[in-house]
Amino acid sequence: MKDLLRQIPPVHELQQLNDFIAIRREHQATKRLWTSWIQKAVESLRQDILQSEHPNPADFQEIIIKKTRHYAKQWELPALHKVINGTGTVLHTNLGRARLSEQAVARVGEVAGNYSNLEYDIEKGKRGSRHDILERRLKEITGAEAAMVVNNNAAAVYLVLRALAKGRKVIVSRGELVEIGGSFRVSKVMEESDTQLVEVGTTNKTHLYDYEEAIDEETAMIMKVHTSNFYMEGFTESQSTANLVPLTKEKDLIFYEDLGSGSIVDYQAQMIGKEPVVGDIIAQGADIVSFSGDKLLGGPQAGIIAGRKQYIDILKEHQLARVLRVDKMTLAALESTLQEYGRDNIGQGNDVYRAITKQSDEMKKNAENFIEEMKGLNRLTLQVKACTSRVGGGTMPEVELPSFGVEITSKNMSQEAIEKFMRINPPYIIGRFLEESYFLDFRTITLPEIEQVKQALNKLNAYMS
Ligand SMILES: *Cc1c(COP(=O)(O)O)cnc(C)c1O
Repeated sequence: MKDLLRQIPPVHELQQLNDFIAIRREHQATKRLWTSWIQKAVESLRQDILQSEHPNPADFQEIIIKKTRHYAKQWELPALHKVINGTGTVLHTNLGRARLSEQAVARVGEVAGNYSNLEYDIEKGKRGSRHDILERRLKEITGAEAAMVVNNNAAAVYLVLRALAKGRKVIVSRGELVEIGGSFRVSKVMEESDTQLVEVGTTNKTHLYDYEEAIDEETAMIMKVHTSNFYMEGFTESQSTANLVPLTKEKDLIFYEDLGSGSIVDYQAQMIGKEPVVGDIIAQGADIVSFSGDKLLGGPQAGIIAGRKQYIDILKEHQLARVLRVDKMTLAALESTLQEYGRDNIGQGNDVYRAITKQSDEMKKNAENFIEEMKGLNRLTLQVKACTSRVGGGTMPEVELPSFGVEITSKNMSQEAIEKFMRINPPYIIGRFLEESYFLDFRTITLPEIEQVKQALNKLNAYMS
């Protein structure tokens, strides 16, 4: 073995050879990067030998070339890339939540690839503020006096608490102390923001007098958190915004509602969930609300804060606003998304809205056409099945959206192996299991993506043949 290892050619010698020089040229790689590929290839061969493989030393060079090509190819592949979401979960946090509309993507491209008036007042010909770009539209859409945008809703919660309640008490119902996605805990954010959390009530019941009794001279705020990622049924009581606003007014406190998803349109009117509408909460007298840009709104990752001007002004001037500020690409995507909400048929512009309100007939028809066209597959059995999709992103957890999709099974391959094949090969299709079979929910798959799924299944079929 030692003898074999000794016969591996040194990297600097390999670098003299035409094959290796060609790889560098092909990829226009820096010397440093190219060297690292060869080093990794050599190391990989060493490991093969140590793990008791015995390649012929005459083949060493060929083996290293192959491995070097492999590392070069890997370098070219993006680590972050598109996947096809066949889970049916519209706001899948692991899959990047909301999908932007074509117009929004185009606006990001325009602003990112050019100079822009990000902080420049075109009319006056002098410095402007990035806060002004979206405020007018946000005010129109929420009905609030003022608004601003930060990096995400977690940042919004942090900024609001830190800037308006630092060193003072904030009262929250115990039933609303939610944990979102395993890492965002309202209680932890409060700790970090240096506000003192006062929990009132029990996990299932909080009365108005619970709030009232907790108020003292150190109280700055009552915070209501929309419990978007869990759903309690039965013997529960919580206080609505309309109930809490008069109390905060009477006691001269700030009323802040973290809406989480922040719906602009009324899904409830379409018999979907019980999500409060941002404009209604503002109209009920909330001093401040915050919500995410990439949940129900269907825009980029962002945190939107709207409410009374006197408070938003404080937030804008706070040093943290600079720390948490968003990039021009976010502003471009968000502006385009907000414009979609001004259009009569937002379903044509906003993918999240469209995906949630899609009728199951549409998915059924697409799934049936799909199967019809894929009849030729001899190794796979496809079947249209009814299913339920989820909104996801911790939004409307109780809602089950009726949908349709395709079950894919094979006598030659386990459902786990099918799942893996679809997942790890481009175009990276992420499905799920329905009654223990591999399944693609067509709610979250677009027509062009259906074509890609067809190609992938053809490949899978060929792979088994
Ligand atoms: C999702 C959510 C957050 C965090 O929002 P991000 O935009 O993911 O940072 C905060 N509060 C509530 C109630 C949420 O649902």
